[in-house]
Amino acid sequence: MADLTAMKPESPSLTKVPAACLIGWPAAHSRSPLIHHYWLRTLGIEGGYVIEAVPPDEFGDFVLRLSLRGFVGANVTIPHKERALALSVPDDRARAVGAANTLWFEDGELRSTNTDVEGFINNLDASAPGWDKVDEALVLGAGGSARAVVFGLVERGIKRVHLVNRTMERAEVLAEQFGRSVHPVAWEAVAGLLPQAGLLANTTSLGMHGQPALELDVGLLPQHAVVADLVYVPLETPLLRAAMARGLKTADGLGMLLHQAVRGFELWFGQRPQVTPELRALVEADLTRA
Ligand code: NAP
Repeated sequence: MADLTAMKPESPSLTKVPAACLIGWPAAHSRSPLIHHYWLRTLGIEGGYVIEAVPPDEFGDFVLRLSLRGFVGANVTIPHKERALALSVPDDRARAVGAANTLWFEDGELRSTNTDVEGFINNLDASAPGWDKVDEALVLGAGGSARAVVFGLVERGIKRVHLVNRTMERAEVLAEQFGRSVHPVAWEAVAGLLPQAGLLANTTSLGMHGQPALELDVGLLPQHAVVADLVYVPLETPLLRAAMARGLKTADGLGMLLHQAVRGFELWFGQRPQVTPELRALVEADLTRA
């Protein structure tokens, strides 16, 4: 079998095998090719995954001709996720999040979903089984990823989700959209909410390399609390380190990144891949090199 991971073809049609792509602008460095090539190789599937740099004014045309270009589907990243939603038939998750990151063809239609929802939830299930036996969750942030996280928590039946954001109005808008179990709270009120929070999820960019640290006392959380951080650069954020030092269960951003890639691969190539320790080590090494 041809080693497609090494070929990195300009056009997937050259490979005569099913191929997916990541559409973005600019074509930033992404771990998605590494992840999908690993699964193609280990599952013995002849397929491809390439990065396509597509400027905003060419995105519509590119998507219209996705199949003609030989692609069975695509991941979509900044700045195209909202357009991708508008140009496809979205599922409930993509519609609720207001952005699509995965496209595929089904029954002659271009469908879309947002896999950050299951990336977050499935990573929690894998990293901290039983995490959902909590009454209250505290989500920090109200940006794009917070929408996926909050939707996932509501979908899973978490009774009360406190939503805290620097810009309170964004939390209010999001809470209004997601229903009565989501409550917007001022940033200053966080300390008062920690003692009841069975789950703490950081969806802000605080703690990321080059960003300010997240100032928060995990000592106030209950002993059964689970701490999730979406930030994965660095892999072990100060928040996760503090939570682990206290003996709390954690779910990290890399786990979410890997779990969110599963569904796209399954839709495009027909087999559900596993998030293995070997894959994690591969991507971890790439992140450490960057
Ligand atoms: P976004 O839409 O730009 O939202 C950023 C959020 O961070 C907003 O709530 C913003 O608050 C808050 N924020 C930024 N700087 C802040 C500061 N100095 N103090 C307090 N709050 C601050 O970004 P996003 O797409 O949601 O991504 C957020 C993080 O999640 C990034 O680190 C991203 O890499 C990570 N992420 C990881 C995964 C994964 O698979 N692991 C997936 C998606 C995202 P305001 O509303 O007040 O500006």
